[in-house]
Amino acid sequence: MFTFRHPVQIRFGEGVISQINEIIEAEGYSRVVVVAATSQMENGVIEFINTQLGDSVKEIVSGIEANPTLENVETIVEAMDAHDAHAVIAVGGGSAMDAAKAAAAAYMQGIEVQNLLEHDDFTKALPIIAVPSTSGSASEVTASSIISDKQHGLKVPLIGPALYPKTAIVDPELTLTCPERVTAISGIDILCHALDCLGAVKHNPISDALAIRASKLAFENLLTAYQEPSNREARTNLSLASMTAGLAFSQTGTSGSHAMSYYLTTQYDVPHGEACAFSMDAWYAINAKANPELEQHAKDIGFADAEALSEALNTLKRQMGLAVTFEDLGISREDIPKIAEKSLRPANMKNNIAQLSQDEIIEMLERK
Ligand SMILES: [Zn+2]
Repeated sequence: MFTFRHPVQIRFGEGVISQINEIIEAEGYSRVVVVAATSQMENGVIEFINTQLGDSVKEIVSGIEANPTLENVETIVEAMDAHDAHAVIAVGGGSAMDAAKAAAAAYMQGIEVQNLLEHDDFTKALPIIAVPSTSGSASEVTASSIISDKQHGLKVPLIGPALYPKTAIVDPELTLTCPERVTAISGIDILCHALDCLGAVKHNPISDALAIRASKLAFENLLTAYQEPSNREARTNLSLASMTAGLAFSQTGTSGSHAMSYYLTTQYDVPHGEACAFSMDAWYAINAKANPELEQHAKDIGFADAEALSEALNTLKRQMGLAVTFEDLGISREDIPKIAEKSLRPANMKNNIAQLSQDEIIEMLERK
């Protein structure tokens, strides 16, 4: 038994960003706040949107940090409040979209931003129009937002139906200017989302189908997009892979690789995608032993078996300069027990098919 519900209207394709005016007008939004990643301020995309929307754009909030903070959210809420906003348009990677989503809920529900991370009741939000400029986070089609509290050293996932954007405008052209390293780090996250779904307790036949498709597209196109940034076919397929993986994990949640990544990011500053990918190969192989269906999924993705898929993932990481070993990460092996202990804490570790003990996780990490 399972349910599948997805409320986001998706507009996908090269050039689809030019429909933004039509979307805003159809909804009657005459006062919008734009949340923009710095890169999008610089490459002309925000200027394009501003020209398209004219007087409807009341304020542009930029300078969102890579791990968006409560302060970033507060700035956006203040802008929404000052202009009595009808909607928020978020243009950028996961950071800009996550910050806008959190602000949209805080604003509509009257939640004090400093208390935001204690809430799990996100039922109302200002309409969000999400425009991703990278392929990876898939925040445009998920009901989650990850916000950091710098003061207390916390990174907390907020989850609730109101955090789904109303509309996702997925235009692969916006990813053409995405730098090499960002393409690698966010692109490998696509595979971690899709493969985490296949290894999730909450997986279902629809999420499996989406995750297999997303994995195949990402394996076939990520290296090309990394090596040839202006390859439109690879960029389009990667945008599709990212969104498709997002549709899958919006239903299942993530599992082992994501649970293990949070401590690597908060303690050692390993970027999100690289931190997830660090253990993804091991989790897939381990999960395939717990659920033999993953062997068949590996074949459907294009590999001989789960082991071969894990190997291919590591090869891809090496080809894009991402960490495969603790030495690559610059983390001492003496920290392995602590990392294992911290990996067991996040709630999504319970969503992993193979339930490992701390000792088994240590053993897994010692092979890295
Ligand atoms: Zn991720």
